Amino acid sequence: MNAVSEVAATIQALRREVCALHEQLTRYQLVVWTAGNVSARVPGQDLLLIKPSGVAYDELTPENMVLCDLDGRVVEGDHSPSSDTEAEAYVYRQMPHVGGVVHTHSPYATSWAARGEPIPCVLTMVADEFGGEIPVGPFAIIGDDSIGRGIVETLRESRSAAVLMQNHGVFTIGPTARDAVKAAVMCEDVARTVHLSRQLGQPIPIEEAYVDQLYERYQNVYGQP
Ligand SMILES: [Zn+2]
Repeated sequence: MNAVSEVAATIQALRREVCALHEQLTRYQLVVWTAGNVSARVPGQDLLLIKPSGVAYDELTPENMVLCDLDGRVVEGDHSPSSDTEAEAYVYRQMPHVGGVVHTHSPYATSWAARGEPIPCVLTMVADEFGGEIPVGPFAIIGDDSIGRGIVETLRESRSAAVLMQNHGVFTIGPTARDAVKAAVMCEDVARTVHLSRQLGQPIPIEEAYVDQLYERYQNVYGQP
């Protein structure tokens, strides 16, 4: 295969992957109607694939995922891209290690965002997955770089792969789109458990040294070799 058809094949495979990952958002009840999206960086290219704007989850196909450049301009596709494209493109431009971004308004996590309150590190799962509390990013209006800037500035200060954008919802990042989807699922799960715990009393923070130890182990040792 020559270089051009290799890139085309990579994009084709990534279209299928990004489309299929959207099924996880509905499966775990992280989204309603057409809200939320998954995007992925095309490896080695200044390109991303993202959900089309306003298209129902049942109607997503590999073909209607929209290919954009890293300024959020459409390169290939009949649909306009998700309204979060500019924000996510900004994340890809500023954070070269990020290969996938997910956005949801998943209810428990978004209820923390509505209060502007970080999800505290009171479960080993929070330490494992997020390396500490899940931080809150600034209130930002859609339509320019401010959401993207808020995401990047908040996540640079943290080990967390998730940020609760105040009064809005969750953005997660990962080395791949699948990792970002996993972080979105885990974020909602811990948001719900810590919420439930709060109804009964004050959850107990995990000591900083244990947080580091848990995070280190989970990120480097856990799972299949
Ligand atoms: Zn949103």
